Amino acid sequence: MTRAVVGLFVLVLLTGCSGEDAEDAGSGSAPAVPPATATAAPAPPSARPTAPPTAPPTAPPTETSTPAAPEPPLVRPGDARPATAMAAVRHLAGAIGPRPGTSAAYLRAARWTTAEFGRYGWRVRGQSFPTPPGVSWGVPVRGGDSINLIATRGRLPPGRRWLLVGAHLDTVPQAPGAEDNASGVGSLLAVAEALADRRTSLPVVLVAFGSEEPRGPGDDDHHYGSRFYVDSLSPARRRSLRGMVSLDRVGVGGVLPVGAAEGRNRVARELLAAAGRAGVPARFEGEQRSSDHWSFTRAGLPAARLGSTPYADYHSPGDVPSVVDPDQLDRTIRTTLAWLAR
Ligand SMILES: [Zn+2]
Repeated sequence: MTRAVVGLFVLVLLTGCSGEDAEDAGSGSAPAVPPATATAAPAPPSARPTAPPTAPPTAPPTETSTPAAPEPPLVRPGDARPATAMAAVRHLAGAIGPRPGTSAAYLRAARWTTAEFGRYGWRVRGQSFPTPPGVSWGVPVRGGDSINLIATRGRLPPGRRWLLVGAHLDTVPQAPGAEDNASGVGSLLAVAEALADRRTSLPVVLVAFGSEEPRGPGDDDHHYGSRFYVDSLSPARRRSLRGMVSLDRVGVGGVLPVGAAEGRNRVARELLAAAGRAGVPARFEGEQRSSDHWSFTRAGLPAARLGSTPYADYHSPGDVPSVVDPDQLDRTIRTTLAWLAR
C-alpha cells in the first residue's frame, strides 16, 4: 500500500476526534462516550427523569435538575461474551483471511476492527508507522506503513495510573490467522463490549497492534507496531503504566497459559490470581518474548502475555476458525476482565 492510502485511512479514523495526543487513555469510571446500546438510541442527559410528580412540595427544587451520572458497576468475569470474540474470529480469519501488516487486507481488517470498537462506545485513533520489507515465515513481504488502533474512553489525566490490553491484528502471509491472532483481537473486542457499561479499577487503553509477525530472525525483526507505540509514550506516561497484557493465541487448549519475558513478574502473578478469581485454570509458561508484551518489557515497563498453547496449524493455511474453541476465548476474556477489576 502507499503512504497516501494509510494517511487517508488515518484521516478517516481521526474524524470525530477532538485533538487529543497519542497518550489518551480511557477513563476508569464512566465512559466518555455512550455505550453501543445508547448509541443506537441516544438519550440526552436532559431526558433523565426528574422528581416524580408525587414528590412533596417541600422538596428542594434544585436537587433534581442536574443529577450526577451514577457510576457504572465494576466489571465482572461474568460480563464476558465469547460469542463476540468468535464472530470476530470468523470475520477476520474466515472472510478477510491472511493480513500481513503492510497489506491491503490488513487495512480492511483495521477498518472493520475500528468500527467494532466504535459499536461499544470506544473512540479509535489510528497510529501509522513504517514496517520494513523482509521474509515473514519463509515468504517475502514488502515494506510500507501499517497502523495501530488505539481505543480509548475519555481522557487520561497526567500522572493517573493506567492499564493496557493489546492484541496483534496482523498475520503471516500464508495463514488466515484464526488462532494467531484473531482469537486475541476477538477477545479484545469482547473486553471492549463488556466495558461499554462497566468500570475498571484503573483507566484502560485497548490497542490492536500492527506488524507483530516476524520479518526476519532478529530481535528487532518483529513487534514493529508495539515498539512504535511504546516509543510514542512520554516518560511520564510510561512511569504511570501499571501493567500491559498481550492477548496472543488465546483460543486453543483448556488451560490458559500465562507468560512473561523476565519470568514470573508482577503482571504474570496478577494474571494468575485473576484467573483464580474468574474460576479459570491457568498455568505459568515460563519466560517468553514472542509477543507484543516484549516491546514493553524491553522498555522497562510491566507486561505479560496470555496465550501460546501449541497447535498443529500454527502459521499455516489451516489456521481457520474451526481451530478456535469459544470456551478458551471465554477463559481468556473472563481472566482479562478479572484483572481489570482488581
Ligand atoms: Zn501471534
